[in-house]
This record gives sequence, C-alpha cells and structure tokens, in this order.
Amino acid sequence: MTEAIKAEDSVTVRKLVSETEAFLFDCDGVLWGSGKIYPGVSDTLNKLQSQGKKIIYVTNNSTKSRLQYLEKIRGYGLQAKINEVYCTAYTCAKYLQHKVGQDEEVYVVGNPSIGTELDKVGVNHFGIGPDDTIKNANEAHKLVDPLKKNVKAVIVGFDDYFNYSKITKAISYLANPETIFVATNMDSNFPVTNSEYMMPGTGALITAVAFAAGRQPDVICGKPDSVMMDYVKEECEFDQSHAVMVGDRLDTDIQFGNKNGLKTLLVLSGVTSTKTLEDVFRNNDKEKQPTYYAKSLSEFGQYL
Ligand SMILES: [Mg+2]
Repeated sequence: MTEAIKAEDSVTVRKLVSETEAFLFDCDGVLWGSGKIYPGVSDTLNKLQSQGKKIIYVTNNSTKSRLQYLEKIRGYGLQAKINEVYCTAYTCAKYLQHKVGQDEEVYVVGNPSIGTELDKVGVNHFGIGPDDTIKNANEAHKLVDPLKKNVKAVIVGFDDYFNYSKITKAISYLANPETIFVATNMDSNFPVTNSEYMMPGTGALITAVAFAAGRQPDVICGKPDSVMMDYVKEECEFDQSHAVMVGDRLDTDIQFGNKNGLKTLLVLSGVTSTKTLEDVFRNNDKEKQPTYYAKSLSEFGQYL
C-alpha cells in the first residue's frame, strides 16, 4: 500500500462499515477536544449503533476512573456501558490485581483516579496527592529513609503534583529489580488548540522516572501496547479482523490497531496533520500507517 484510503465517499465508507463488527474510538481529538464534542460525532456514532456495530472507547487518559470516563461520555450525549470504556487507570489496576499481595503496596505517581481503580480491585497504595515534604533537593534522602519494604510495584501516570520528591521515591523503589514498573501511557504531549504553546504528556513524566531509574517500564497499560487490547477482548467479544481502530494519533492509536490486527482509520481532527500522514508513507513507517483516513468523524459519518 502506498497511501491511506480516503474514507469520504459512500462506496468506501459503506463497504468498510458493512465489513466491520466493532469500532474502537480514541476520544480526545476524535470525539471531542477542548471541552466540546465535535460536530457530527453524536450522529455518526448513533448511525453505527443503529446498524448493530459495537462502539468501544479506548483512551490513554489516566486522570479519570472508568466510571468518571463513562460519565464524561454520557455527558456529551453519547451512549455507552461501563464495559465499553477503557482508560489507563483501569488497565493498570487490572494488571496489578493478581500481582500485589494483601500485605504489599503500590507506590503511585498519578492522579486520584488510579487510586479509585486500585481500591476497587483491593490493591493497597500510597503516594497520590501533593508531596512537598522537603525544602530542597539536598533533603531528598529524608524522603526514602527508611524505604518501605513491602512495595511490590510503582505506577507512573499523569500527576498534577509531579516533582523531585516523587521521582526520588519512585526510583528508590525501582532500585529493587523485583519491583514492577507500570506505566500508563507514553503520549509525548497533549493536543492543544492554540499551537503557540505545548503541554508535556504522561510519557514525559514516565521518561524522567525511567531515565533516573536506569530501567524502562515493565509494562505500558495504554495504546499502542497490547495489554489494553487483551482487556478489551476479555470483556467485549469481537473478531479483531472485523474491527476498526479510529484515532487521531499515529504512534498510539494507529500503531495499536496495526499491532493487534485491526483496520485503522485516522481522523485529522486532532494532533496529526496531512503532512505527518504523508510522511509515514514516504518513510515507509509501516507500524504507523493507517488503512483509511478522513478529515473528521463528521465527514466520515456523512456517507453512512
Ligand atoms: Mg487522541
């Protein structure tokens, strides 16, 4: 294949939909952005649902629990059930559910949503919230003296209070090679509407910890890695060769679909420009090449 197929005509779109059993949707940049649902999204999803297609939401966002994400989806007027929603706070907790004993704990660099999900599966944890217990870096040793001996895993996700103290604790626990290093997702930055500034994504926080620890995460519970797909498949039955991953990011969404044997549809309503799309074909970067592309879900939905 030399380029992606443009999915903006009725023959292409209807053929794709007729061959598809399930659509997996990334959220930010696909369904909504900057706190607003994109025009036409609700119509497109309703049309797919009325044709009996499964709709599944898969997001790398770790700042909301599964229930909070479901509420967000429903708040935008979209239909969803809890087992159709996959976020990384949920997948991290599920991953650790049977790996952390009753008398063990997880050190969490992350937002309260991760705690909510760990509580649900009965995993003990600490670390969520502000950690400004030292005045300067020279006092950092005080944070980890003594180190807890029962820390089985460290989770790193997006954390509004990320700082030197948290890195110090995370890498001190990760100095033990037996400690499991769990990352939520490696997104480099957040999509912003005003391109004059940039916002670092969770991958930037995880990379800081990994670099200082001298080790990479043992598992990444978000796209494009397969753990998330394993969990989707556990709860939602569908044939992967008859499913489409719809996303706006090539190195997470599209790679996730390609890696797991799904067709992929890139929408240009989020972080990826037409030039970036052309580059992955020019550079023969197969893992990131989408099968189809459309300007937006609204454009795609017009031909349903
Ligand atoms: Mg996105």
